[in-house]
Amino acid sequence: MINVTKAYLGNKNKFKAYVDRIYNTGWLTNHGPLVTALEQRLKDYLGVRNIILTNNGTIALQIAYRALGVTGSAITTPFSFVATTSSLQWEGIRPIFADIDPETWNLDPNQIERHIEPDTSAIVATHVFGNPCDVERIEQLARQHNLKVIYDGAHAFATCYQGRSVYNWGDISTLSFHATKLFHTIEGGAIVTNDDDLAERVRLLCNFGIVDTDQIEGIGINAKLNEFSAAMGMCVLDDIELILECRAEIGQRYARRLGEHFDLQKPQPESQGNFSYFPVALADEQQLLRSRAQLNEIGINPRRYFYPSLDTLDYLQPQAPQPRSRALSRKVLCLPIYPGLPRKVQEQVMQTLIQESIHSTQSNRILFRPLVEAFGLLSGDQSPASECKRIS
Ligand SMILES: *Cc1c(COP(=O)(O)O)cnc(C)c1O
Repeated sequence: MINVTKAYLGNKNKFKAYVDRIYNTGWLTNHGPLVTALEQRLKDYLGVRNIILTNNGTIALQIAYRALGVTGSAITTPFSFVATTSSLQWEGIRPIFADIDPETWNLDPNQIERHIEPDTSAIVATHVFGNPCDVERIEQLARQHNLKVIYDGAHAFATCYQGRSVYNWGDISTLSFHATKLFHTIEGGAIVTNDDDLAERVRLLCNFGIVDTDQIEGIGINAKLNEFSAAMGMCVLDDIELILECRAEIGQRYARRLGEHFDLQKPQPESQGNFSYFPVALADEQQLLRSRAQLNEIGINPRRYFYPSLDTLDYLQPQAPQPRSRALSRKVLCLPIYPGLPRKVQEQVMQTLIQESIHSTQSNRILFRPLVEAFGLLSGDQSPASECKRIS
């Protein structure tokens, strides 16, 4: 089965060499040399002031809320992975949804203000599919209403806004390094902040509040990353430019062809995305289900990210419905995109979606067919198959 992504494993011998080092030192976790080295490399690569590695991206969100003293309620997006919302609820913070922008698919700054309640203390927004939020408008609103800003940056590794990592915006950005993410450490995550005092607080929270052997300062939890995970991160980071290039090549190919038939996510101005996902908005849910079934039949497994819209979660009812998020979540499909994805599969994906879309249109307008054939809309891209050369 071809899935929406495939964990990038990097060079096995390089990984083995790190494992040998771990066996030699016997240092498995608790801020070992590989975690320390990876933190330094990520800090330089992303161009951020502080980065604290964690053992997953969900606990990174939970720690962010604690470190910033978020209580009461938080304005958040209904169109994201469930952890963005569930982490709030888990921490006893009531998520209040504000609808998304119909083009960028991120939390719409115009929807935020009217949802702010007396106990609201934060905005929690996701750079969904790596597309930066309107960080300036959000910052302005946060300042006016004295709110903290947390960005769930799980999709935004290497994404830039105005030429810098988008992790430089907000009070805290959180990252996920889960195996399915563009950069990964098997399981893992990180917290980024440009505030040094806040970074210190985060470090304490990640390690039970332990200051040193004889001193504990406040409540904490265990969010530490281990050395084996850091070793994987070192290997994947070595190949990050290649990973980004391969993804961009596939993503741009999809965008050129599919952009003529379907709505695609609109990039935020002045931003540089990362092709961590390739979402496409089909005409409606029926078309999505038919296209997915056809792709499944030929062994291709695109995913419905993000479905259902988070304002429909059982444990949050009753809840004000967010119509744009609900409408979008019903018709968005994420297509396979990862280094080494065969060119032939990319063609099959595009052909299937386009043919199904033309077929749906024809059910309504049967006379359209001769036109379709005359203009060759059903034929594939005939350019030579160049899979990303340096991989496969
Ligand atoms: C993957 C993801 C998370 C959770 O990260 P984990 O490392 O799996 O805990 C949170 N938010 C978003 C948007 C994600 O895609």
